[in-house]
Amino acid sequence: GSVIGILGGGQLGRMLSVAAARLGYLTHIYEPAANPPAGHVADRVTTASYEDADSLRAFAASVDVITYEFENVPTAALDLLEAAKPIRPNRRALAVSQDRIAEKDFLTGLGLTCAPYAAVSDMDSLQAAIAQVGTPAILKTTRLGYDGKGQARLRSADDAGAALADMNGAPAVLEGFISFTHEVSVIAARGLDGAVSCYDPGENVHKDGILHTTTLPANLSLAQRTDAVLLAARILNALDYVGVMGVELFVTPKGLIVNEIAPRVHNSGHWTQNGCAVDQFEQHIRAVAGWPLGDGSRHSDVVMENLIGDDILRVPQIATEKHAALHLYGKHEARPGRKMGHVNRVTPK
Ligand code: ATP
Ligand code: MG
Ligand code: MG
Repeated sequence: GSVIGILGGGQLGRMLSVAAARLGYLTHIYEPAANPPAGHVADRVTTASYEDADSLRAFAASVDVITYEFENVPTAALDLLEAAKPIRPNRRALAVSQDRIAEKDFLTGLGLTCAPYAAVSDMDSLQAAIAQVGTPAILKTTRLGYDGKGQARLRSADDAGAALADMNGAPAVLEGFISFTHEVSVIAARGLDGAVSCYDPGENVHKDGILHTTTLPANLSLAQRTDAVLLAARILNALDYVGVMGVELFVTPKGLIVNEIAPRVHNSGHWTQNGCAVDQFEQHIRAVAGWPLGDGSRHSDVVMENLIGDDILRVPQIATEKHAALHLYGKHEARPGRKMGHVNRVTPK
């Protein structure tokens, strides 16, 4: 059968592998860390770094198409892989989403609204950024941040020194603080044929910088829902995107503000596993394998709860709940802040 190559063997790679298997594909995971969660379900795993050119070439030779669960793959590795096999979503989607400033330049260039932002590399540029975007504000490293890591909040200009020190010399971006009423995300998909399909937007609550719950339906007016879906489609079309993308939005009285985009299946889309006939993982595999997109309409109300660290100890109790679908990642050690699994609590509409 055809083989789908997946860069990254975390829980997203694991759930992509399960979806690929259901559609009759083999999967080959490329992951630098030993014993990845996806390793238990994939057909093949290569444990090697992204600097290992021979392993990258052998991996590319063994697959038909390459996708990823992780957007921070080094450029040189992508160059090697792309010379051999198609990478979907494409390189531009990766380049834009690997760097918060490139991402915001791209999004605002499309006419979408982001938080006010300015590049920061030292104290002078931070002072200039504060003068431009004001306070309160959030300073974020431009690259490699996730789950709220690499961020520092500034209540006033007095916090500049401490915030800059938190960046450890890495290039950063200062963002004006948005007083949103709530956060939502759109999980959007685009096929090889250019068809776009968006899942119903979900409402996200974060705890300690990590996604805690996603609730469907979100608290949105019909107009806001339309807006959210149309702006997501505009992003995917502009990138000639193939696959699933997560688009995080702030809801404000003045309209929707784009927080960030992720060029992959997304934690806030896990509810689709039990709320739709075709979930985000199958949708992504369909797209990258050149199938038509499937039916992502929502048949149930769902609350997805992430099981983080010691939350995993509640699994025996959750396992007895009615209408609760558990998804566990097979991680052996529960560390604080580590995503161990999630539960989808479902109510048919
Ligand atoms: P993820 O794990 O989603 O990739 P991340 O580390 O990239 O997270 P962000 O999504 O940028 O971080 O920020 C995390 C959370 O912090 C947001 O979901 C939001 O709650 C809050 N936040 C981020 N930027 C702003 C802002 N400009 N104004 C207000 N709140 C913000
Ligand atoms: Mg992010
Ligand atoms: Mg985020």
